[in-house]
Amino acid sequence: MTFKAALHTLHKPQSWLRTAARSLICGAALSLLTTTSSAAPVALTDVRIIDGTGTTPIENGVLVMDNGRIIAIGDAGSVDIPADARLQSLAGKTLTPGFINTHGHAGAVRGLESGHYSRDNLIRQLDLYARYGVTTVISLGDDEAEGFALRDQQNTPALDRARLYVAGPVLSAQTPDEARSLVDTTAELSPDFIKIRVDDNLGRTPKMLPAVYRAFSERADHHDIPLAVHTYYLEDTKDLIRAGADFIAHSVRDVHVDDEFIELMRDRNLCYSPTLTRELSTFVYENEPAFFADPFFLREADTAVLDTLREPARQQRMRDNTAAQQYKASLPIAMANVKILADAGVQIAMGTDSGPPARFQGYFEHLEMWMMQDAGLDPMQILHAATGGAAACMGLGDTGTLEVGKWADLLVMSENPLQDIRHTRSLEQVWIAGKQVHTAP
Ligand SMILES: [Zn+2]
Repeated sequence: MTFKAALHTLHKPQSWLRTAARSLICGAALSLLTTTSSAAPVALTDVRIIDGTGTTPIENGVLVMDNGRIIAIGDAGSVDIPADARLQSLAGKTLTPGFINTHGHAGAVRGLESGHYSRDNLIRQLDLYARYGVTTVISLGDDEAEGFALRDQQNTPALDRARLYVAGPVLSAQTPDEARSLVDTTAELSPDFIKIRVDDNLGRTPKMLPAVYRAFSERADHHDIPLAVHTYYLEDTKDLIRAGADFIAHSVRDVHVDDEFIELMRDRNLCYSPTLTRELSTFVYENEPAFFADPFFLREADTAVLDTLREPARQQRMRDNTAAQQYKASLPIAMANVKILADAGVQIAMGTDSGPPARFQGYFEHLEMWMMQDAGLDPMQILHAATGGAAACMGLGDTGTLEVGKWADLLVMSENPLQDIRHTRSLEQVWIAGKQVHTAP
């Protein structure tokens, strides 16, 4: 291990923990301010609890929340329910943490059109994510001031939309000096990540030079900000890891991953976000996708958008598009790689790259989990990748698992997702910061 790699191992987790600790302290302060609130604690009882840590579920559990946070959780017999608690029996149902999308985008798109970034559009999309049970979204790029402001205002029991973390603009430079200066400017905004793109779009555009991404990595490290990388090719991804990248934001899709790659990932304890639905979205509209008939999709779908995606001429253009067909061919490689990596003990972090046109926020996170199951992961691995595992990958100390002290961001499903991850579609209730913000129609 190089000196710099050793430095990363020692250095990065500590800074992430500091961030997590800061948000806990901040949350505690806000809780104190609102202890005069007249809202009573809520106890969810008689329920199967999957707590997001990856451990065996509690079959007959109780969860108590107050002031936005979980104050008790455990077996029915082991939890003291406060006398003033409002009880809700959830017999036969399953409780999980809210899902975390470790690679999304928010705020820019309306219909199939970009360029609509605003506070209103952000809130509309964060509400949409929330209605699908995606209670936290890490937006990896194209974030503007309104997104940073919403992030800074969300650490409160009053929150009723998905939590948002931001990267600012996706950074690109021609020279190391330019890279360093861009990181310095972006760091002033206090982003949660720095995001760069190392890809040649299947040979159609120039790729960022190694000296430039090394400069991005070193400067991000200097500011204690983790570096998330968009990649495509195995060899680029290996070199990005050697350069100090902290989060692999897409699947390796050109070839199957090898032992050297697995070792590099494990050495640095890095997380890998498959974004299988991103790949799907590049070609799936060449025909009418099966999910256009799924009621779980249709309940939030915009008819005008579906009509556009169904236009025969548009479908034909996608069939004739060389890039779309190459991405289509790369999806099975991406699916094989996520299984190889999960089997090798690499932490997978559920992420979709949803948000750009025709990558449907909320629904695509479920589709991503279903595709992870098709790739061979078991439901517990997938749920962990979408909850506690994702939180650990993103340095979020305050959400992602159902444990005392965390925000009460949680989901109620009528069917057990451990039997089949497709049961996530039986989502009935979404709670954010201890309030039920959504009930299935
Ligand atoms: Zn992205």
